[in-house]
Amino acid sequence: MNPILSHSGAQELDQKDPLRRFRDEFLMPQTDGITDVYFVGNSLGLQPRRIAEQLQTVLDRWHRSGVHGHFDGEPAWMNLPEIVSTAMAGIVGALPHEVVVMNTLTVNLHLMMATFYQPTAGRHKILIEEHAFPSDHQAVASHLQMRSQSPEQSMVIVKPAAGEATISAEHVIDTIRRHQDSLALILLPGVQYYTGQVFDMPRITAVARELNIPIGFDLAHAAGNIPLQLHDWDMDFACWCTYKYMNSGPGALGGCFIHERHATNQDLPRLAGWWGHERSTRFQMRPEFVPSVSAQGWQLSNPPILALAPIYASLQLFDEAEGIQSLRSKWRRMDGYFRELLAQQLGDRVRILTPNSPIECGCQLSLEVHHEGNSGRQTYERLSNCSVHTDWREPNVIRAAPVPLYNSFEDIWRFVDSLATCLDA
Ligand SMILES: *Cc1c(COP(=O)(O)O)cnc(C)c1O
Repeated sequence: MNPILSHSGAQELDQKDPLRRFRDEFLMPQTDGITDVYFVGNSLGLQPRRIAEQLQTVLDRWHRSGVHGHFDGEPAWMNLPEIVSTAMAGIVGALPHEVVVMNTLTVNLHLMMATFYQPTAGRHKILIEEHAFPSDHQAVASHLQMRSQSPEQSMVIVKPAAGEATISAEHVIDTIRRHQDSLALILLPGVQYYTGQVFDMPRITAVARELNIPIGFDLAHAAGNIPLQLHDWDMDFACWCTYKYMNSGPGALGGCFIHERHATNQDLPRLAGWWGHERSTRFQMRPEFVPSVSAQGWQLSNPPILALAPIYASLQLFDEAEGIQSLRSKWRRMDGYFRELLAQQLGDRVRILTPNSPIECGCQLSLEVHHEGNSGRQTYERLSNCSVHTDWREPNVIRAAPVPLYNSFEDIWRFVDSLATCLDA
């Protein structure tokens, strides 16, 4: 056996990991004094220690300054949304005025569809993928209904080719071209939540732009996970959450990208609210709406500072770790190690649905386990009983996501070792 695949080999890899100090920045769940294996950062990222302090600072200022906290102190609450949005823009490859952190993912999808879905008699269809996250499917169906379209006739659903788990870019592009005259909007995932497949966003977007069809991406599983260049890729909009790979806490605020060509267009239709009004005249309290010349122009309400504070703290960690590229380089080593260990220890008892290519794969591996007498679900439950946290997605997948900011090579070793034991149980 390759010595690196042993327990001590994993510990050696951790010793050499330039990012290893970041694990101590997080509160890890434990059982009987031993740190659990937490591979569910794709669902709810772990808690950065510094968030508690950040929240306490807000509470203290509220106590001492009351309403003046909006203007006093560093950062003044008044400025926090833009500060957080600018830091976020760095992570998704956007210009600062193209990003706003507000609401939650599904709410933002609705706001984006209110702007970008403008059906006409001929062009009224929305393209989504067959296994779109339920919320995305439901949001799309509800917009069709609100605009007097029928979800049955106006949803174009792209599916994997027969016998395949993932959807190739060629297949998506063929489907777009086939419906090019009737499509009014395309909504796709950046990373598919079930298989972990990364979609070829730049290539698909280029075709949509050539055909003049608005295109947006749901980046729930992409933001904080894979390198993104949203501005250069030229998509019209994107939405993501910050409680998965961005570690900002359960139900944390979402992020939203609106390409500069739209963000600076004050004539675009939108659902409006006073916080989207241009800042210099907002407090004149006049009824007419003059949107900010940026993505901030889609905000509705006075931003929740207690919800922005954890994101502010979490984004600092990405900055200190020198951004996604440095996380990604650790991820590449982890991914190679994970796949090699699975192959060596479990052979064909585990099938990896996630494509094995650095551009089509992020932190998550979606595993189908096969072993006589064991259903995948039972195996998943056994893993949970050994303090190994993964998640189960119907119909047949265990998702395991080692995250470079806080997971270690030893975690991967312990995961594979536990999985082997659970399969043999
Ligand atoms: C997690 C996730 C969501 C969640 O939406 P919320 O509005 O934040 O609850 C939506 N879409 C995808 C693809 C997701 O993975």
